[in-house]
Amino acid sequence: MHLLTGGRVADVDGTREADVAIEDGTVVAVGDLRDLVDDREPTTTDVSGSVIAPGLIDAHVHLMMDGRPDVASAASESDYAASYHAAHNLRAAVNAGVTAVRDLGARGTLAIDAGEAVADGTLTGPRVVACGRNVIMTGGHGNWFGREADGPAEVRKAAREQLKDGADVLKCMATGGVLTEGAVTGAPELTREELAAFTDAAAATGTPTAAHAHGEVGIKNAVRAGISSVEHGTFMDAEAAELMAENGTYWVPTASALAGIVDNGVEAGIPADAVAKAEDAADRFAGAWEHALDADVPIAMGTDAGTPFNRFAEIPQELAYMVDYGLSPAAALEAATVNAADLLGLDDAGRVAEGYRADLVVLEADPNADVTAWRDPETVFVGGEPVA
Ligand SMILES: [Zn+2]
Repeated sequence: MHLLTGGRVADVDGTREADVAIEDGTVVAVGDLRDLVDDREPTTTDVSGSVIAPGLIDAHVHLMMDGRPDVASAASESDYAASYHAAHNLRAAVNAGVTAVRDLGARGTLAIDAGEAVADGTLTGPRVVACGRNVIMTGGHGNWFGREADGPAEVRKAAREQLKDGADVLKCMATGGVLTEGAVTGAPELTREELAAFTDAAAATGTPTAAHAHGEVGIKNAVRAGISSVEHGTFMDAEAAELMAENGTYWVPTASALAGIVDNGVEAGIPADAVAKAEDAADRFAGAWEHALDADVPIAMGTDAGTPFNRFAEIPQELAYMVDYGLSPAAALEAATVNAADLLGLDDAGRVAEGYRADLVVLEADPNADVTAWRDPETVFVGGEPVA
């Protein structure tokens, strides 16, 4: 048993003084545990003055991407090179206090395999929930690594292929995107009939689904098809927000993705087409937040890490962006812990509580009050093991 004593605990249930006991990778007790010190002779670490928080959960990453300015140039890389990016990114994420990620689009089984490599101890990193390949229309957003499919029957087959490969979640493109030249950011891509076939293929096994959607028509198409989460949602209008709230559809805003492009720009080597689209999207993104907050849309944290200048080491920056757009630090923490855990289907993550996995981050400040608390964690535990 490992006992963390003298500190405070901060999660969605508030911030309070408590010791934490870890055994076999699990939190076995939280509270005043001084008696345990005498009885069980555990390994004890004094964390007086520090705060123990649950590890962050990022609901949208691309493990194979390295933050390069021109994403399309990675198309000529070998699969082996892309795998090394994933190994690097897993380490960077966990060092930053991220203990679970959801990969929403990779080549082949790269991200599914990365998850297995973490699970069997080959690589150190966060737990990985992965979708396999993105299901997209022919020539659609991300076509250089997606599985192109047209018509409900082919979309259903493409979805089933990912399930056969071991996908934990299915991801599709409901609209165009910023980083594919020629794709119009907000324009619908997969049709309502195709989206319905997609979610129906997932429903057979209760597998959650995610849709990349910027434009309001594509968002509504995806929500009406029963998608579990809308990724980006940049042009969300009031009707789309209300529909999402009614259906309990999560919004994964990925503010870091837009900021990475807009803040660095053409001078940094990002294609002019992508910068222009991102600037337009950024102008309308604040409106999406107003509609989402008005309608009380459930929000899960996601960054789209791997896109230009959007580094795994800086994932916690997303919480600061969410606070800039109107969330309290505590609500941002909720989005990055219990909400993201719910979306990922992880029923043992997101809290510092008995029975939960010991995915814990020791911080200098209280993240319920201070969104910058995530800078430079003192210690990160994954499954009870100190890894950073
Ligand atoms: Zn993405």
